[in-house]
Amino acid sequence: MSGSIDRWNAPAPMAMLNQHLIDPQVCIRCNTHDANNYVVNAQVCNGCMACVPPCPTGAIDNWRQVHEADANSIDAQFAWGELPPRESPDQQGAGVGVASALHRLEHLAASSSDVLRGASVPPGSATRPHVNLYTCDAPATAIVADNYRLTDESAASDIHHIVLDFGTTLFPVLEGQSVGVVPPGVAPNGRPHHARRYLLANPRDGERRGCNNVSLTVKRVTCDHEGNPALGVCSNYLCDLHKGDRVAVIGPFGSTFLMPNHPGSRLLMICTGMGAAPMRAMTGYRRRHRGDGARGRLMLFFDARTSQKLPYFGLLTKLPKDFIDADLAFSRVPGRPKRYVQDALRERAADVGPWLVDPNTHVYVCGLKGMEEGVLLALRDVAQRHGLDWQQVWADLRREGRLHVETY
Ligand SMILES: Cc1cc2nc3c(=O)[nH]c(=O)nc-3n(C[C@H](O)[C@H](O)[C@H](O)COP(=O)(O)OP(=O)(O)OC[C@H]3O[C@@H](n4cnc5c(N)ncnc54)[C@H](O)[C@@H]3O)c2cc1C
Repeated sequence: MSGSIDRWNAPAPMAMLNQHLIDPQVCIRCNTHDANNYVVNAQVCNGCMACVPPCPTGAIDNWRQVHEADANSIDAQFAWGELPPRESPDQQGAGVGVASALHRLEHLAASSSDVLRGASVPPGSATRPHVNLYTCDAPATAIVADNYRLTDESAASDIHHIVLDFGTTLFPVLEGQSVGVVPPGVAPNGRPHHARRYLLANPRDGERRGCNNVSLTVKRVTCDHEGNPALGVCSNYLCDLHKGDRVAVIGPFGSTFLMPNHPGSRLLMICTGMGAAPMRAMTGYRRRHRGDGARGRLMLFFDARTSQKLPYFGLLTKLPKDFIDADLAFSRVPGRPKRYVQDALRERAADVGPWLVDPNTHVYVCGLKGMEEGVLLALRDVAQRHGLDWQQVWADLRREGRLHVETY
């Protein structure tokens, strides 16, 4: 009798799965406002990679080889404080071997242009950013150097300009990047609060030129998305900070929504609400470096309910017209028709159209999620009015890292 196992009676081979997981220690829950971990359902995930490029931290790009029957359940993942360890050296690395990595890269190339409305690459002349230097486990400590209300006292919306100083701690940033703030204390589930993300409002060389500090534009959240009273954990913590307080900061985040260094580049900036922060940062950088040969013009479309609710309103109206063409739209001025950035873009089609075909133009869209589609449709209309093929213009802008969208 042969010593080999009868192939018909041998145990069925166990199917292996390259399980997609999200690292709860690195994830900053940028698209949710509850304290839960982001999780991936192994029964649903097909490894298409569509979710990977938009993740600002890379937390989403984690993989473990497991037997299909032992796949980590979503309930288990909800409870994790950290990822399970890799069991063997074979499981090191994000994927499992070269074939898998290539497969994932192919998917990435195929999927990113479909899932992202903006570019997935930075402008060609952008400075290379630093990302993820500080994590929840090892945050940087900043000291509050300033904190004041930006919006008029009569306005219901309370928006603060907060300056954080890093002292001797290295914290290099670029315009368009964001940071995470870790509020002190614990969530109702007993776990530490997760970090919240805030866009930087300062140029790379500091809120105050030459200083190792950054600034944030923070809206105090006093009701939830349905309008019910709710005190936002992190926004209230930040808005109530005093000079000298210490804040735990992680990041920086973001490697594509960056400004070009090319001095002839034109910036077409379209934003609402807190989306003003990166536009202030870029405008500030260009202003400081005008004398160094930066000659490309800036055009800004910015909307708010009223001028009292517009952060940085005073600064914008004082900037010279030959430097920045700022068009402010208001949607709730008594006795006046509602005007949004989309309306302003269409009204100014004669000025915006030529910018769309100029290879030096870089377009930035930032604000609440709801604005994204309306703005892109308005740009399409402007292009069509100038006889341009929007699909082609759009494809060129994205391929060359000249159309960036950051909405939340
Ligand atoms: C990429 C990115 C950039 C961001 N940049 C900024 C920024 O520059 N400035 C800024 O102020 N915020 C910014 N945010 C939002 C910020 O990260 C927080 O989500 C926000 O401050 C609310 O956090 P919280 O802890 O105060 O509220 P939470 O305690 O998380 O939420 C309290 C309640 O309010 C609801 N809620 C949360 N946020 C809002 C909101 N904005 N409006 C109405 N209801 C809300 C929640 O659903 C919840 O019911 C950004 C978010 C992302 C993803």
